[in-house]
Amino acid sequence: MRHAEQVTFGGSDLDRAAELRSDIPELAAGLQHPDTRTVVVWRGKPLVSGCDGALDLVRLPLDHPVLAEARAEPILLGREEGALRFAHDISAWVPEGQDLTQLGGFSDSSEQMHPELDPDQRFSELRRVMTGFSPRDAELAASAKAIFAWHSIHGFCARCGAASDIASAGWQRICPSCGAHHFPRTDPVVIMLILRGNSVLLGRSPGWPQGMYSCLAGFVEPGETIEAAVRREVFEEAGVQVGAVGYLASQPWPFPASLMIGCRGEALSGEINIDPVEIEDARWVTREELALAFAGEHPEILPARNGAIAHFLLRNWLADTLD
Ligand SMILES: [Zn+2]
Repeated sequence: MRHAEQVTFGGSDLDRAAELRSDIPELAAGLQHPDTRTVVVWRGKPLVSGCDGALDLVRLPLDHPVLAEARAEPILLGREEGALRFAHDISAWVPEGQDLTQLGGFSDSSEQMHPELDPDQRFSELRRVMTGFSPRDAELAASAKAIFAWHSIHGFCARCGAASDIASAGWQRICPSCGAHHFPRTDPVVIMLILRGNSVLLGRSPGWPQGMYSCLAGFVEPGETIEAAVRREVFEEAGVQVGAVGYLASQPWPFPASLMIGCRGEALSGEINIDPVEIEDARWVTREELALAFAGEHPEILPARNGAIAHFLLRNWLADTLD
């Protein structure tokens, strides 16, 4: 698909400077360099400034006082115009006087402002700001959020249970007891445009906003190909048999650690039998109906949210730009 990398989080060709990750002297020099900057994340929320249309991921100098809140060493994200870019996690900070029960969900509209930061700078839920970012800011924010989420639940060795240490500028953990090396995980998920003539198969999960329908999706299982996962998930969830499967586009989705693999599949059958444990409803939606839904004029259907790969695939199907 020619437009594949235009999806949100579709990448910005960031130089990840992987050759420096184990170069202790270079990393130490980089942390002292006046052009070095860092991205700051608090409980999965990136530090942003500006507003809609001019939203920026903040890059702070390494001597900024707010970084004293970090409890672990920074992670090397890469290099921009010759200068290193790190990420700091200051999740240990507790904002005063805020209800924190909404944190972590799409509905989290709260923003947190640290007293050491400028009034315009605040921590925002990534799903609410992702479509306002440049591709570079989106890539840096997604990488930082995903790797801090991995560290937050991998403090102990999965082989022997001992506390492990951060290594390779944040891109590994090493167990001092048994010597195991652990690498950040990304979990593959297939998400598919299942087509039958002029219609696409859409479903909805319990708990979604009323009327929202999207492409079916599911985790790839160990020992399974992408094609097999597409066919299995569609048959399990909707009872529809799928023949030919092709790849369209992929999207890192750091909520918390997925790689969405967008595919198209040709339906071999039309009858729908849903698995009510997995989904609440599934239906065939014609191009004309979907165009109405995107225009906000369909009486029953709201399309997948902007920023999600499902939205991107459906829009490109409508525009006939899947090739
Ligand atoms: Zn171990």
